[in-house]
Amino acid sequence: MNIAENLQNIKNTLPEHVHLVAVSKTKPIADLLEAYNAGQRIFGENKIQEMTEKWEQMPKDIQWHMIGHVQTNKVKYMAPYVSLIHGVDSLKLLVEINRQAKKWRRVIPCLLQVYIATEESKFGLAHDELLQLIHSEEFKALENIKIIGLMGMASFTEDADLIRKEFQSLKDIFDYLQPYQLPNCHFQQLSMGMSGDYKIAIECGSTIVRIGSSIFGGR
Ligand SMILES: *Cc1c(COP(=O)(O)O)cnc(C)c1O
Repeated sequence: MNIAENLQNIKNTLPEHVHLVAVSKTKPIADLLEAYNAGQRIFGENKIQEMTEKWEQMPKDIQWHMIGHVQTNKVKYMAPYVSLIHGVDSLKLLVEINRQAKKWRRVIPCLLQVYIATEESKFGLAHDELLQLIHSEEFKALENIKIIGLMGMASFTEDADLIRKEFQSLKDIFDYLQPYQLPNCHFQQLSMGMSGDYKIAIECGSTIVRIGSSIFGGR
């Protein structure tokens, strides 16, 4: 597995406006350093404790993205340094992120995770929940978070048409919400696409792809 080569091959296929998150969950520091030395500066992890341990050990010019489900009681560990939280799916979680961000006198960028897959999943907001959230007075009062877009995961399937349909539905919601601007809400980024489906995601308007196994190998 040549990490630098894998990274380069993927970057060659990405349009210039698409950001690449190297998903390094479960991988050792040596692998992350290999990607870092090849120029990669955005890393994604799905567990706060593991991300924090890696943040402590890795160079400080890295942007750390939390891509997994976030437990409210663990937000405090990443609040000082996290660059973007992809999987925000409740007002309660946003309130806690806001509270911790305030302690560090910073504004933490977040994406709202939307439930788009046809298959059963526990995570993500349904369309009506999403609208309810951003129109609520409690949300509008949060000053230390900024919603910069949406995140979604397609069904785990070989059916490319279904994946495309699901990504397209997220793009439609994104386009609908984009004009909606509040001090803490400015839709610019659409995080969708993993190793198996990122090419379809980009065709559907993704601006952030989260790629793990195609860079670092299987887990
Ligand atoms: C693990 C993970 C990825 C990367 O998956 P690969 O198939 O290894 O590219 C992307 N997004 C989320 C939310 C993940 O948990």
